[in-house]
Amino acid sequence: MADPRFIAHAPRIIVAAVLLLHILGFLAESHIAEGLSPAVWACVGAIDAVIAYRCGVLVQTAFKDNLTALYNRHYFAAAIAGRVGRGSTGNEAALLMIDIDDFKQINDKHGHAMGDAVLRQLADLLRASIRKNDAAIRWGGEEFLVFLTGADKNSARLFAERLRATVERHPFGQDPHTVAVTVSIGIAAATATADLEQLIRLADDALYRAKQTKNKVIA
Ligand code: GH3
Ligand code: MG
Ligand code: MG
Repeated sequence: MADPRFIAHAPRIIVAAVLLLHILGFLAESHIAEGLSPAVWACVGAIDAVIAYRCGVLVQTAFKDNLTALYNRHYFAAAIAGRVGRGSTGNEAALLMIDIDDFKQINDKHGHAMGDAVLRQLADLLRASIRKNDAAIRWGGEEFLVFLTGADKNSARLFAERLRATVERHPFGQDPHTVAVTVSIGIAAATATADLEQLIRLADDALYRAKQTKNKVIA
């Protein structure tokens, strides 16, 4: 369940499993099947495939945030925990905790719809800036996480600084109604001893310090 590859392909994998069960059942009970027309079997198979597909989509939905289509904190707990601390492969990794500055003012001045558009557009920027083995997560409200694989503190800081500058330059909203947005970013490097909870706490502490100035990266 926790494997990101399973979540990404959940609808297809579940449909394939159900169809395989059907074929096995059909072969095992072929003497009963002889009495039924192939059309009936095809209908039962098709209905089950649709139900299975919907189940797969539900599995995906449970791990995704529906405003931004980023993975959510349930996914993060399930998919990333094994990649940090004891039991992990020991590869370098870093966690960025990203918080939009003065987001409440954006909602208050420009309306909730503009706030939602900013969240979606920031999610797009995160998706576009990470690599295949990284993960971007909506942690809640106007807070996001980026998990960088193969990154030490220094390369994570460079990534975060580039992201901070990109956000600062990016016109959020839609022409002519654009709004300037900045983010603060806290970084923690995953060590062999730090578990996921500890990693989150360290990134949160760094974010707290970045928030003293805002539009800032602290590692
Ligand atoms: P700071 O710079 O200290 O982070 O201040 P802030 O205003 O960004 O943070 P604060 O915690 O005061 O406000 C966060 C706001 O985010 C309050 C909440 O209404 C809003 N918010 C949370 N989720 C959503 C959402 O899904 N859509 C919109 N439009 N607003 C949201
Ligand atoms: Mg916040
Ligand atoms: Mg904020």
